[in-house]
Amino acid sequence: MTDAVVDGKLEAVKQATKYVKETENVAEKYSAMTVSKNSDMNMNVGELQSAAFTAVPSLKPIKKIQFANAEDKQEFQKYPTKAGRRSLSRSISQSSTDSYSSAASYSDSSDDETSPRDKAQANSKGSSDFCVKNIKQAEFGRREIEIAEQDMSALISLRKRAQAEKPLAGAKIVGCTHITAQTAVLIETLVALGAQCRWTACNIYSTQNEVAAALAETGVPVFAWKGESEDDFWWCIDRCVNKEGWQANMILDDGGDLTHWVYKKYPSVFKKAQGIVEESVTGVHRLYQLSKAGKLCVPAMNVNDSVTKQKFDNLYCCRESILDGLKRTTDVMFGGKQVVVCGYGEVGKGCCSALKAMGAIVCITEIDPICALQGCMDGFRVVKLNEVIRQMDIVITCTGNKNVVTRDQLDRIKNGCIVCNMGHSNTEIDVASLRSPELTWERVRSQVDHVIWPDGKRVILLAEGRLLNLSCSTVPTFVLSITATTQALALIELFNAPEGRYKQDVYLLPKKMDEYVASLHMPNFDAHLTELSEEQAKYMGLNKNGPFKPNYYRY
Ligand code: NAD
Repeated sequence: MTDAVVDGKLEAVKQATKYVKETENVAEKYSAMTVSKNSDMNMNVGELQSAAFTAVPSLKPIKKIQFANAEDKQEFQKYPTKAGRRSLSRSISQSSTDSYSSAASYSDSSDDETSPRDKAQANSKGSSDFCVKNIKQAEFGRREIEIAEQDMSALISLRKRAQAEKPLAGAKIVGCTHITAQTAVLIETLVALGAQCRWTACNIYSTQNEVAAALAETGVPVFAWKGESEDDFWWCIDRCVNKEGWQANMILDDGGDLTHWVYKKYPSVFKKAQGIVEESVTGVHRLYQLSKAGKLCVPAMNVNDSVTKQKFDNLYCCRESILDGLKRTTDVMFGGKQVVVCGYGEVGKGCCSALKAMGAIVCITEIDPICALQGCMDGFRVVKLNEVIRQMDIVITCTGNKNVVTRDQLDRIKNGCIVCNMGHSNTEIDVASLRSPELTWERVRSQVDHVIWPDGKRVILLAEGRLLNLSCSTVPTFVLSITATTQALALIELFNAPEGRYKQDVYLLPKKMDEYVASLHMPNFDAHLTELSEEQAKYMGLNKNGPFKPNYYRY
């Protein structure tokens, strides 16, 4: 690495520092960078490398992640289904369909069928306050966490910046999220900032066993393993919350199951709790319902709808994962293919731009003239599905609506057409209508079905109409880094907010913090922000340190 490159990275780090200076916001104050100009200049080689690593994570060696085998991947991709659910008062939430986990458990646990609940395990310090598949996998899990850290430099720098002040000292956080290497980076950041954490999984399939073991080994009480039963799921949540002599004062939830459990079983927790941070669409919806019914007794932060997270989940992540999902399942060549994308919102825009860049001939359908006009400006033909359905090689839905592709249209689709969905749940393509006696289904690969008409025509249906990318590809660590940073800042904000700032309601992350999440990721790209001059700030009526846009601004 040349001096010039290091200087460039340091400059990027300093840019981020400037951004948060003089901030009034408690969380931002704690996360503000502490490296002064002088200390930058006095950095030794190790420190320089560490700063450069923060700016360019790829400088560290990266181990390529592979699924151990197809079954592993398929198992991971399953959603909890209603079938087999027991008569508990409430089933596992749908959070697996609206929140992400990026990786499967790579360790082979098939040789050990004993339920973790029946095992006596202790970590190397003698603690047995956890329940994971196999504590001996901790070292392997540690490597996975270290790999994730490389693309989560925003959290690592947050850790470094606020470690001295410990803005979460006194916070007792119970968390219920996917337990993956990326979540581990978040949990260890919260611990580094002073929090005590107890953790459980929000999804019965998504736990990386080795990561859970690594967390338990470092002393974080984790109750989760891949392939829990529904009974295990609630047992783990209960063990996580119900600890003698320890009472949570913050909740970090993904799907609302933990919040629901605490409300139902341990309502007294809310007497002292300082807030709930919720990530998923489903969980946020429940919080708004509680709030409307006047039953929400603590402030809650809706992380799902923060701008930075939304842009990454909907636009940028889909822009990349549409190609990945299609390639992994079908090995299709995109160049010259006729594609119709239904819905030109954020997800549709991402899909269209990726496919266009690969040389596909893309047209769109829209109901909204504004989005349709945007499509025209971006160079896409706006059509009705009926007009083009016979010629298309690939049909993709991204509307959030239902029955966007009907049986009648599927009947007219040409032989070999790929049909998939990137939008809400599995409502967009009328898949149910394809389960009729005259059509034959052939499972040709994991997540790939050939639906065969009596005349021999085959339609290639992916993931049975469920979200293609969540079913058939992985989510980049960088996308999860955005979410995890947003969650960490929301916790810091709620925990440190002066009395009265937040009432018993659901809040969006303050715009300034949303901007801060983005700024923390800028060093990754060696991106240098322009600073407003006093004169410019006055002219624009802005604070030099943000927020830079009104709440109604559409990015
Ligand atoms: P959006 O509201 O920005 O876009 C949806 C678009 O579809 C709108 O412009 C709407 O006018 C259009 N539309 C609605 N009904 C239509 C119809 N019958 N025909 C044609 N167009 C129609 O929403 P978005 O952020 O793009 O999200 C779309 C869906 O994708 C949502 O269900 C969302 O939950 C889901 N989503 C998926 C992922 C993923 O990773 N696959 C990520 C984020 C969101």
